[in-house]
Amino acid sequence: MSQLEIKDLHVSIEDKEILKGLSLTIKKGEIHAIMGPNGTGKSTLAYTLMGHPNYTVTGGEVLLDGENVLEMEPDERSRAGIFLAFQYPVAIPGVTVANFLRSAINARRRAENPEDKGMPIPEFRKMLKEKMDMLKMDHAFAGRYLNDGFSGGEKKRAEILQMASLKPSFAILDETDSGLDIDALRIVSEGVNALSGPELGVLVITHYQRLLNYIKPQFVHVMMGGRIVESGGPDLALHLEEKGYDWLREKTAEEAAA
Ligand code: ADP
Ligand code: MG
Repeated sequence: MSQLEIKDLHVSIEDKEILKGLSLTIKKGEIHAIMGPNGTGKSTLAYTLMGHPNYTVTGGEVLLDGENVLEMEPDERSRAGIFLAFQYPVAIPGVTVANFLRSAINARRRAENPEDKGMPIPEFRKMLKEKMDMLKMDHAFAGRYLNDGFSGGEKKRAEILQMASLKPSFAILDETDSGLDIDALRIVSEGVNALSGPELGVLVITHYQRLLNYIKPQFVHVMMGGRIVESGGPDLALHLEEKGYDWLREKTAEEAAA
């Protein structure tokens, strides 16, 4: 069974420890959600998994089917089957969504086989149409310049289409705290729901309980102070919506004192 395993991960930014021993295993086919208040290190986890140079791993491991992910360059992580949203947030005027996706697919094919001539255009067009239909996207979207004047929702749409085209084994989606409107939320959720299945493991990172009204994770984790402090099923998300995080703050304080 394919799995992404995070073991006792410690991460610092500029000598300040942010992740303090985080452990989590995601199996292919599972949807996990990490929730938690602002500033607890959720994005730090996403950036670390992506291989962002500002985040220093000071302890622990990340293994993909037993392979050490932390030793891989970001593009190797992608080729190994890990998809991270926000990998390409930049606007690229003059490059269409379709061109960008084709380059991404071909770069991956060439990395596997230097002789590869790239995906033939008719095959690419057919694949792209199928993915866009599956995601209920207007075909005209593929002809737009990537992220050039895109709304929040359109950026998400491009991201989900990229994910559908690259067919990762594990997708990690960090929902940033600002600018995520209902439209973008809906697009991400519908995309994840359309793509999820036995061949994909998903980690959704969010502080919005609302997102979990649309995406149905089997596993919900609460992160506080750089650690997972509580794990449960979908009920946990409902409980958090009702009670907030305070009961967990008290609980973890009591445990620390005990
Ligand atoms: P979350 O996504 O849960 O809101 P973050 O991972 O963004 O949390 O941030 C965790 C902590 O790391 C916060 O205390 C934040 O102030 C700090 N932090 C984040 N980015 C930086 C940075 N570039 N330099 C220094 N501290 C940072
Ligand atoms: Mg964040």
